[in-house]
Amino acid sequence: MMRTKIVCTLGPASDDERVLRQIIHAGMNVARINFSHGTQADHARRIGLVRRLAQEEDAQVALMGDLQGPKFRIGVLPPGGVLLEDGRQLTLSAGRPYANDGALPVIPMPHPDFISAMRAGQRLLVDDGALILRAAADPVGDSVLCDVVSGGILTSRKGVSAPGAHFTMSAITAKDRADVQFAVEQRLDALALSFVRKHEDLIELRDLVRSLGADPVIVAKIEKPEALDDLPDILRATDVVMVARGDLGVEALPEQVPFHQKTIIRSCLNAGVPVITATQMLQSMIELPSPTRAEASDIANAVLDGTDAVMLSGETAVGKYPVESVRAMANIAHHAEEHGWMACRSPAFAPQPPVLRSTMPAPDDVTEAITSAAVEIADGVGAKAIVCTTTTGHTARMMARHRPGRPILALTPHYRTFQFTAFIWGVQAVLAPVFTSTDEMLAVAARVAQQEGYAVPGDLIVVTAGLPLGAGMGKTNLIKVHEV
Ligand code: PGA
Ligand code: MN
Repeated sequence: MMRTKIVCTLGPASDDERVLRQIIHAGMNVARINFSHGTQADHARRIGLVRRLAQEEDAQVALMGDLQGPKFRIGVLPPGGVLLEDGRQLTLSAGRPYANDGALPVIPMPHPDFISAMRAGQRLLVDDGALILRAAADPVGDSVLCDVVSGGILTSRKGVSAPGAHFTMSAITAKDRADVQFAVEQRLDALALSFVRKHEDLIELRDLVRSLGADPVIVAKIEKPEALDDLPDILRATDVVMVARGDLGVEALPEQVPFHQKTIIRSCLNAGVPVITATQMLQSMIELPSPTRAEASDIANAVLDGTDAVMLSGETAVGKYPVESVRAMANIAHHAEEHGWMACRSPAFAPQPPVLRSTMPAPDDVTEAITSAAVEIADGVGAKAIVCTTTTGHTARMMARHRPGRPILALTPHYRTFQFTAFIWGVQAVLAPVFTSTDEMLAVAARVAQQEGYAVPGDLIVVTAGLPLGAGMGKTNLIKVHEV
């Protein structure tokens, strides 16, 4: 059984029906629709294809829309770009088009909020740091004077980041609002928010989708150092976290990324919040059919760190070997699980009591006690599976955070919860009706454990549930060692 979940970004490289079918076979759990690229027509076509093929293949695939967020870009420059020489000065302007007739070139930067947040000395990383500028003074009007620290050819629409700058505008841009509307119409299972700065950004997104009548799984992309300072509250406000290493390596320093990754994953394990490790995991496979040893090591180490899921970006969206990439990722992650997942359960892991989440109505220590005991009992009696009933997915993720050696089967009557488990390590979900009696619940648990191939008659399973049945979330209070 594969425990680590795989997120694959869709794009032109995975549009072919045969390719996408093979990607599903290779183990994709979550299909990522990246709103930073492509049109809504492209996305709608891909969403339809994923749904049809997943149904035909009887596979569980969740659909995640990834909102671009406040990504700032240079405006339009002449074709071929503009040469910025080291040591020269230029004016970044939110109001004026490109000009190079006077003393200082004017480079358009059509984001007034960005310009006004600049302060003298602020570093600007253009095109992921290929060019570096520095604000020479505070902004005046809609412009700011900059020194070229590290120059080169600047072309249109390149991304700009300003590490440490304090932006006050909403994390949800006008484009994001249109994409949220589209995601709701398309009934996407999850929505990821880019460049999260603080937990309020996630509350704003959740309020927005709820006002549109939807309740997708919310994913907080951690790619700004500010977000690390607010991590405890972010863990309460989100459903899933993503270690977005690409932009994190620009906003912070690349050498800090491995340590941020470990800190974030450990915090997520402690809180029972599923976490995706993302970006450049098999970067070389965009061009080549097999992974580098460094990439194999990176995926294995993310699994050993305790990640729930690993993600492919360009590899499956625009690469030459999308299917091989998913197969390589599955092989490497599976091998790491088999050989090393116990590392997560070593004394060094020592799960802390979970952070209580604002989305939970009441303190919920009973679930924590029941899930940790269920894992221990399953070990003690040699149970073949742990079967939990779960309303919101809370019990499933609290069970998974203990990284049990046995499969976790999650019975839920809710489709949202069923799809949420696509992000949770080691959890396989099964849709089941709301039970009317404990006997019925135990019979279904035993039947599902057999159907999924984990148990035969006479085997033991450990079952958890909340009594009275159907009481809702946060009510897990029963453990039964049950003979199949
Ligand atoms: P992106 O996010 O691919 O949308 O930029 C992931 C990352 O920054 O790592
Ligand atoms: Mn990013």
